[in-house]
Amino acid sequence: MELPELTILSRQMKKEIVGKRISKVEVANSKCLNMPFEQFQKTVVGTTIKSVEGKGKWLFIKLDSDDTLLFNPGMGADVIQFKTDDKLPEKYHIKFILNDKTGFTIRVWWFCYLHLMPKDKLGEHKRVAKLGITPLDKKFTLDYFKQLLSKKRGNIKSFLLDQKNIAGIGNVYIQDILFNAKIHPKRKIPSLNDMEIEALHKSIKMVLNESIELGGLAYEKDFYGKKGGYDKNHFRIAYKPDKPCPTCQTPIQKIKTGSTSSFVCPNCQTLDK
Ligand SMILES: [Zn+2]
Repeated sequence: MELPELTILSRQMKKEIVGKRISKVEVANSKCLNMPFEQFQKTVVGTTIKSVEGKGKWLFIKLDSDDTLLFNPGMGADVIQFKTDDKLPEKYHIKFILNDKTGFTIRVWWFCYLHLMPKDKLGEHKRVAKLGITPLDKKFTLDYFKQLLSKKRGNIKSFLLDQKNIAGIGNVYIQDILFNAKIHPKRKIPSLNDMEIEALHKSIKMVLNESIELGGLAYEKDFYGKKGGYDKNHFRIAYKPDKPCPTCQTPIQKIKTGSTSSFVCPNCQTLDK
């Protein structure tokens, strides 16, 4: 799940669960919590959901107790609404039941975080406090982006994936974001010229917005259990090794970039600049 999926999910959750009271909570593995389950349950049950916001790869569910539930799906999770308790997904790890008997289940692919933070301690949450702004934020202007880059020396891909710089881009969308801007993932930040930075800024917004419009990635489900429409046909070069580049027909290469894989067109995204 990257920014488009979290944005879609948070919008749908906002519509469906804000104003409802949490009447029951089940957590199969309390390792995802930041406190013992009994304490979590005691603090959460009886509170009313005030708002749901997505930031980067995190969901912020604000409660009327002024506590915030922070959820991060890790490698991925299905967060799915149910209307009645007898129509639940086969497998799930976390379940919230609300006062009108609707609710939602969470099935986690690998691991997740479900942390409860009091209002005055939110700034102390290590992962959340340092999150950069998201590319959909009004503050994410070209000038802001230039400023962020001006102090950095490393390669552009690692910079964009670092959630402290910009929140919400992962290893799926980054591929086409860099390709559209004709920038090789290993380019050093100081080597980027103004035109390239502008192209990259545009590309980030374009790729993410395009996916949001299509309902997110095709292998992720939204709050209603529906899969997104952004599938392999929409990827330009991502996960298409040896296929022709859509611009110049050169075969796309899969390369190693640190701990992640990258897909590049060796003709459109050159390193020696
Ligand atoms: Zn090409």
